[in-house]
Amino acid sequence: MNNFLEIKNLSKVYNDKGEQITIFENTNFKLESNQLVTLTGPSGSGKSTLIHILCLLDSPNNGSFFLKQSEDLFKKNENEKSTFRKNNISIVFQSFNLISDLTAIENVMLPSLYSGKDNNETETNALRLLRKMNLENRINHLPKELSGGEQQRVAIARSMINNPELILADEPTGSLDIKNAGYVFDLMKEIIDENNLVIFATHNRSLVSKSNLELTISNRTVNF
Ligand code: ADP
Ligand code: MG
Repeated sequence: MNNFLEIKNLSKVYNDKGEQITIFENTNFKLESNQLVTLTGPSGSGKSTLIHILCLLDSPNNGSFFLKQSEDLFKKNENEKSTFRKNNISIVFQSFNLISDLTAIENVMLPSLYSGKDNNETETNALRLLRKMNLENRINHLPKELSGGEQQRVAIARSMINNPELILADEPTGSLDIKNAGYVFDLMKEIIDENNLVIFATHNRSLVSKSNLELTISNRTVNF
């Protein structure tokens, strides 16, 4: 879908002990669905800031955000943002953030149960996603019994359980070795379809070269 995601006139300024730090100034971009877009830029350029803004966890100083013909998401109040996020957006972190006393399948099921889905339907969906991530032999393992690559694949399955339109990943392969980073990337590419879009912050050039598009942050804006 054309114009699946649109950001208009985005500005973000941090106030750091009285000093103003401009991260984005009048930034505009549009993205189509069915893509894995990598987000690059030096450390401190604003990759995590942009991901938090797109996840509606951080507010910009100015700008508009449209996702699949939504209204301007930045105009929603905190409750509306939280509901929209729950149903349409997910985020994957470098540190996996799995719940340590829940098994792989219980971790994957959690967002679906929170959104009020029935237990059986949720379990069927979680199993399907864990199979897709080649984790069918790990479903009843706890996070500490899984390798880093396996934990991140559980986190990706969890990020997909509510069929989000936007999947944000903040250096999700940053703590994995090259082989597992490539494998996690390839599996993320497989979950893309015309109803969703993945934005994947990374420094890994070999992953960037396999992505559909690279966005780079420089000069306080996002460049194609
Ligand atoms: P990246 O993810 O590309 O490394 P970040 O988005 O984490 O970059 O940070 C961009 C810049 O914003 C950095 O200079 C960082 O120090 C600054 N920054 C991030 N969060 C805050 C904050 N809450 N308050 C002040 N400055 C911040
Ligand atoms: Mg970062």
